[in-house]
Amino acid sequence: MSARRSIIPIFVPHLGCPHMCVFCNQRRISGEQSPARAEDVRRALTDGLARLPEGTQAAVAFYGGSFTAIESARQEELLGAAQTFLREGAISGIRLSTRPDAIDGEVIERLKRYGVETVELGVQSMDEEVLRLSERGHTAKDAERASKMLKDAGFELILQMMTGLPGDTPERSVYTAERLAALRPDGVRVYPTVIIRDTPLYDMWRAGVYPEHTVEDAVELGAKIAEIFDEAGIPIIRFGLNPTEDLSSGDAVGGAYHPALGELILARRYLCRERELLTPEDRGRDVLFAVRRGRVSAAVGQKRSNTEALRREFGVRSVKFTERDMADVTVERLLN
Ligand code: SF4
Repeated sequence: MSARRSIIPIFVPHLGCPHMCVFCNQRRISGEQSPARAEDVRRALTDGLARLPEGTQAAVAFYGGSFTAIESARQEELLGAAQTFLREGAISGIRLSTRPDAIDGEVIERLKRYGVETVELGVQSMDEEVLRLSERGHTAKDAERASKMLKDAGFELILQMMTGLPGDTPERSVYTAERLAALRPDGVRVYPTVIIRDTPLYDMWRAGVYPEHTVEDAVELGAKIAEIFDEAGIPIIRFGLNPTEDLSSGDAVGGAYHPALGELILARRYLCRERELLTPEDRGRDVLFAVRRGRVSAAVGQKRSNTEALRREFGVRSVKFTERDMADVTVERLLN
């Protein structure tokens, strides 16, 4: 049996960020207020490891800021604090997240020296105008260059993209997903934009210059983007921000914040396939679909939204599902 895997996250909110991206308030996203130091790393690892069931393989992850843009002495302090745990085998690896313009030869050499295995790059968009309006401060070329350097150096590469940024359109997001897929990352995270209190984006939204990217927008677009990564064989690690107490209790004031966004997107992908199997001749009929084992609830949709949509759109009398051994996100129509 393979060992259980777990990640012990350490947030370095806004450490290293050269400026503020309009949508970001890392302190609110991560729920953390003060930047991490070596003793925080040691404490988080000691506490985190003590809580894990025996036999769990744990990695430490520095998330939340732009790790490799932090001044080098502080990077070494934080990475150094994890070294004893790594040497003793208490943790199996180190991962971190950073910006595309904070990767160069010196950084790569440092990350290798400290045994970092996985780097997550916040690319967010491959459209120059979207990057500019979001005040990212880097270009699409930076993302390409950094991805290539990291892959060539043997790191596991995870790319992050966003949808619904200022200036974004569904076409631009699809283009971003295609460009990211072409970079052959080991996985991607897709974060539809959430409007968080006390950010420049919040002000833009209140001033009426930024239109909200709704949950429905994110679901519709997310379903298309998921197809692109699936077809390229690139795993989608996550859709949507991790829910936190602060976000859920009022800091997320608008946009695509939903604790089960990934499930909504999966359900939408099923709905698209179900629609393809129905015609106007099905009016008044009882319909039976087969889906992969464990996927009936996704195929039915939250609060039966998929079956209701099919009844509305095609006038079918009933929609039922049965489970089979079949590929994920595929639907077969059965005779009943
Ligand atoms: S999105 Fe990333 S780079 Fe931009 S301000 Fe937030 S943590 Fe920093």
